Amino acid sequence: MKIGGYLPTSLIEWPGKLSAIIWTIGCNFRCPFCHNKDLVKISKLKNQFPDKYQVLNSKLQVFKQKEILTDLKKRKDWIDGLVISGGEPTIQSNLVDFCVRVKKIGLEIMLETNGSQPEMIKKLIKNNLVDFWAMDFKTVWENYFQVTGFKKIAEIKKSINLILAFGKPLELRTTIVPGIHDEKILLAMARELRESFKSRLTNNDLRFAKPKWKWQNFQPKNTLDPAFEKIKPYSEGQIKKLKNLVFDIFPVVE
Ligand code: SF4
Repeated sequence: MKIGGYLPTSLIEWPGKLSAIIWTIGCNFRCPFCHNKDLVKISKLKNQFPDKYQVLNSKLQVFKQKEILTDLKKRKDWIDGLVISGGEPTIQSNLVDFCVRVKKIGLEIMLETNGSQPEMIKKLIKNNLVDFWAMDFKTVWENYFQVTGFKKIAEIKKSINLILAFGKPLELRTTIVPGIHDEKILLAMARELRESFKSRLTNNDLRFAKPKWKWQNFQPKNTLDPAFEKIKPYSEGQIKKLKNLVFDIFPVVE
């Protein structure tokens, strides 16, 4: 595992749980608003959107897998679990092996992913290694390539269906960015979610829909595309207005 960040304790990342967090190095997406640019490919681009990740940015503190596991063992009686974030964790070839080791310590696992690697997700599910899934839902499917540089939308949809079929909690997450998300796009995203998941509802009441849809406000700091640092995020009032607008189609939980 290529690990570029470690936080021993957090109360925020996994609601209701006390968790440690690791950030893996490298991502196969190129979201311009990404605020983890040090973890994502920033140089040696052979073409605009290479399949594989690069790295290593000299600013990163790189952690050895062994030192993380040793520290987790020490704090296993104090924390509930480990959040694996990135970058994109599912492009790490030894993710399954790492998760097995974390589980052996006795910790639960939350995985944050862009959903691009259903084969890896299948392996994690098969070995029952993830207790809570958080997956990005960046924009309407039609704009996905434009926003992320990732073409294989069917793979992302496949990942969502695999996780839903498995039955563990899934939270879809959207970072709301002015210029990428407006009323029209958010309404269209809500409709796409409704359409995708309505067959899973017993009483058509989307307040009880699974997965949950969670929004987070864009932060114009350390963005992959420096131009995005000049974009002013929506105000709380604007976000609330947008949330009310889409709520009847597909509820936003936070
Ligand atoms: S926002 Fe997430 S998926 Fe997009 S480039 Fe950054 S780490 Fe990758």
